[in-house]
Amino acid sequence: MSATVDSAARAENAAREAVCRLAASLFDRGLTQGASGNVSVRLPDGGLLVTPTGRSLGRLDPAGLAKLDADGRLVSGDAPTKEVPLHAAFYRTRGTAGAVVHLHSAHAVAWSTLPEVDPDDALPPITPYAVMLLGRVKLLPFFVPGDPATGEAIRGLGGRRSAVLLANHGPVVASRDLEAAVNAMEELEATARLALLTRGHHPRLLSDGEVARVVERFGVEWDA
Ligand SMILES: [Zn+2]
Repeated sequence: MSATVDSAARAENAAREAVCRLAASLFDRGLTQGASGNVSVRLPDGGLLVTPTGRSLGRLDPAGLAKLDADGRLVSGDAPTKEVPLHAAFYRTRGTAGAVVHLHSAHAVAWSTLPEVDPDDALPPITPYAVMLLGRVKLLPFFVPGDPATGEAIRGLGGRRSAVLLANHGPVVASRDLEAAVNAMEELEATARLALLTRGHHPRLLSDGEVARVVERFGVEWDA
């Protein structure tokens, strides 16, 4: 085995272990349940490692992850989640995306159903951290799970958003790598929880000027 192949294989094995470890961490903390939620990472050759359909994120086998080639064909492993179109849409439109996480986390789902949510700016600016890690979050309408229209809706954002909330379903977050995508997803869920806790109490939100200062200071990608 050449040194290049060997190092690619080592990197892929490390990615497999990381997907299973972080997916289990999300599951163990109740951030998704049953066989819901899915995780993918982009490999250097443009292919993807994707969590399999019908499996709990809490009990994944590194060797059983679906490996797709750059054209989306299954190369090895178990059949991928039927929500692959959500992941593929982010990779296609965001060249910087190295990982995508989708969960059915309770607070984000609850928030996605409320009438006051602005579809174009779905999370209120309660803390600077959601602004920093997520930019502006888009609320997309309800789609039947697995409907290719979900991927089309994400592609329709033209790569300008890294996080979306699917109404009555759950959030999807893309980031440069798996660790960053998990951190951003945790921030999204925490912010939805804070939004629910403060709902109806007239919380002081960050002003437009305060948000602008956070965006400038941290170089946040902000789709105005
Ligand atoms: Zn889902």
